[in-house]
Amino acid sequence: MKKPTFVACRKHDLILVAGAGGFIGGSLVRYFTERGFTRIRAVDRKPLPEWYQRTDGVECLSMDLTNENNCKRAVEGATEVYNLAADMGGMGFIERFRIMCLRSILINTHLIEAAYRAGVARYFYSSSACAYNTKLQEDPHCRALKETDAYPAYAERGYGWEKLVSEMFCQEYTAERGMRTAIARFHNVYGPWGTWEGGREKAPAALCRKVIEAKDLGFGTLEVWGDGTQARSFMYIDDCVRGIDKIMHCNQLIATPINLGTSELISINDLASLAEKIGGVKLERKYLLDAPKGVAGRNSDNTMIKSILNWEPSIPISEGLAKTYTWIEGQYRDRKAGRKTVKDTA
Ligand code: NAD
Repeated sequence: MKKPTFVACRKHDLILVAGAGGFIGGSLVRYFTERGFTRIRAVDRKPLPEWYQRTDGVECLSMDLTNENNCKRAVEGATEVYNLAADMGGMGFIERFRIMCLRSILINTHLIEAAYRAGVARYFYSSSACAYNTKLQEDPHCRALKETDAYPAYAERGYGWEKLVSEMFCQEYTAERGMRTAIARFHNVYGPWGTWEGGREKAPAALCRKVIEAKDLGFGTLEVWGDGTQARSFMYIDDCVRGIDKIMHCNQLIATPINLGTSELISINDLASLAEKIGGVKLERKYLLDAPKGVAGRNSDNTMIKSILNWEPSIPISEGLAKTYTWIEGQYRDRKAGRKTVKDTA
């Protein structure tokens, strides 16, 4: 195995995080702050009081990055740009609002051009496993997806195609204009400070919330979308931000889409059982067979990330879900008490 080479960002260089009012962007800002980076600019479309997390000492700007001039303003003086801004959510959202998902193409299109013109040294793009060919995911026991499985292309309608084309922008900015870009294909990220209600939440948060609600309100049932056999891998947020940092700064990964996910496959039924076990209850399953459920099976093949970075996301779902459950329980209590909670009002 060849040793990877990394470039480091200097502690006083300006880092821009786009989408910082959301789950992963907000956690990335905190991650860099904790590592001693002193100049971070955080941008999101949401008004500041609606940001999921705000970190002290960070310049926070509320701007819509589908606008070209706002992108120019956002990247001014930046050495590194992390694009985590997109209109997204769980299956309930991306199957219903395909146009909104496609329109996120405007964010990356303007942001990468602005970054190039401003002389930004490195540009990170948050792609998704939804960019993969859906024909390879029709069986819950399908093989894990490797990076080459995105082509021939048959991405998830709307959301997945936007990701694939934005990846291509990054690759071409490197090929044609020499800008260093990095592209990670995230596989289902979850954890504290993620959306947990309102329609954009993903399966881990939704199941934790439903178990908490059932316990609190004395329901005996747990609603599951689909028949529960759909299988996925889920990556805890700490692995995600660490992986972003590694991928962005690895010279062997310039303009190279790479999986960022765990390879621990779990069915939605088993995920529901895990949430019940953490909550200490057993509920009767009610399967909503017409609800959005996405592809039958999707897992991350980590051969490439292991061979290049000698690392892979490894926090087990049992550990990560327990922390997430506890955090959502706190949010649930705060909501009941009329206190402020993480809520997507867009
Ligand atoms: P999120 O919805 O919590 O955060 C995205 C943020 O982008 C939101 O705060 C939103 O307000 C902001 N945004 C949307 N449009 C904007 C605009 N025009 N201008 C400025 N800000 C805008 O989502 P997340 O889970 O943090 O996802 C971050 C990135 O990772 C997205 O690109 C997403 O597609 C990608 N991704 C996430 C997952 C996951 O499981 N969470 C999986 C695959 C890929």
